[in-house]
Amino acid sequence: MTGTDPYVPGHGDASYDVLHYDLRLDYKPDGNRLDAEATLRCRAVDDLTRMRIDLHDLRVARVTVNGRAPARYTHRGGALAIWLADQIGAGGELDVRVKYSGKPSVLRTRTLGDAGWEELTDGVIVAAQPHGAPTWFPCNDRPDNKASYDFTVSAPTGYHVAMSGEPVDTTPRGSSVVWRYRQDAPMATYLATCQIGRYAVIEQDGPVPLRVVAPTDVAGDGFDATFGRQPEMLRFFESVFGPYPFACYTTVITDDDLEIPLESQSLSTFGRNFCADSWDTVRLVAHELAHQWFGNAVTLRRWQDIWLHEGFACYAEWLWSEESGDDSADERARHYYDRLADKDEDLVLADPGPELMFDDRVYKRGALTLHALRAEIGSEAFFGLLQSWVKENTGGSVTTEDFVAHCQQETGRSLTGLFDAWLFQTDLPELP
Ligand SMILES: [Zn+2]
Repeated sequence: MTGTDPYVPGHGDASYDVLHYDLRLDYKPDGNRLDAEATLRCRAVDDLTRMRIDLHDLRVARVTVNGRAPARYTHRGGALAIWLADQIGAGGELDVRVKYSGKPSVLRTRTLGDAGWEELTDGVIVAAQPHGAPTWFPCNDRPDNKASYDFTVSAPTGYHVAMSGEPVDTTPRGSSVVWRYRQDAPMATYLATCQIGRYAVIEQDGPVPLRVVAPTDVAGDGFDATFGRQPEMLRFFESVFGPYPFACYTTVITDDDLEIPLESQSLSTFGRNFCADSWDTVRLVAHELAHQWFGNAVTLRRWQDIWLHEGFACYAEWLWSEESGDDSADERARHYYDRLADKDEDLVLADPGPELMFDDRVYKRGALTLHALRAEIGSEAFFGLLQSWVKENTGGSVTTEDFVAHCQQETGRSLTGLFDAWLFQTDLPELP
């Protein structure tokens, strides 16, 4: 019952998988009060007598397993440990229901910083990467355990609720509105999100429903130059990466400024400070959208492989730069290569360590690795293997070794030298 990933120690239990989460949340922004019930449809990987569920700081009122009380349970240190009344054999399924409540807040750790449920001036965001999912729902917090989700969220009338999934319906109930969402595509726990604020919806025209959920006064030049171009970005990324992998895409723009934006599954969160016409805001709008392919549809199995998300999303920024008539991808690559060459060369891209997993060098060196690969094998082969990578792994979990093997198989070439230099050595290789 120990944690499963050394980058996020203490989270996750490899002895079972969650297949489906049914989350029912009743939230009052005034006082930050959450009353909730979660039902986890689980499948035992091993013979199961005891299981561990991640849930931080919230108070557990009741636990049932297949409708009955378990032999016993304890909840301390972020771990809900449940001793089953009867053993469940490997492959057997069980429903675990947890009733809980409290005042959710971010989970703060020394190496990974803050993540999770975060109160805004008037509303909420959940920015859970990598360890914040247990701040708002009981879960098996492993990136490689993807599941489907049903969300039922009650919030006071006047608030808009956006979740990482497709809207199902809304129903008024007294002084509240009940919002239902569904995510059928397999989703990692950290990619689930809940966003509540006083927002209106701007519909955009795209190959899937595109919605911007934002305060009513965000429209203007900065908006047009950034979020206004999302339909074009989405069509362009479909042309280079393959079909958009989810049923819809929602962009939440909070009334509060945010330090950084963040991707969730089929949803990204920005502060209103990102409505500004500059490369540094445009690139992030492209970056978060590209994560829908790289990170959300195709997700790392271990956090050490974070470059498979950030390097790819960063490279997508450079591709959009060229497509939109700004600097070419090659110019961007050479610019950032020069900047990287001035920094310490003490980072192993394929295993940077938890302290450096979101270091800017992971993003830039990751993107440069892809640019070097493209120079080595040619653009046609490069984009072909990106598309087949997405197609073959959508809904799944991958490692760096999987990507290297995929490239070698698709090209019929040994690319060991190139990948070894960029991914496994600290010195910055020459850019071809
Ligand atoms: Zn990113």
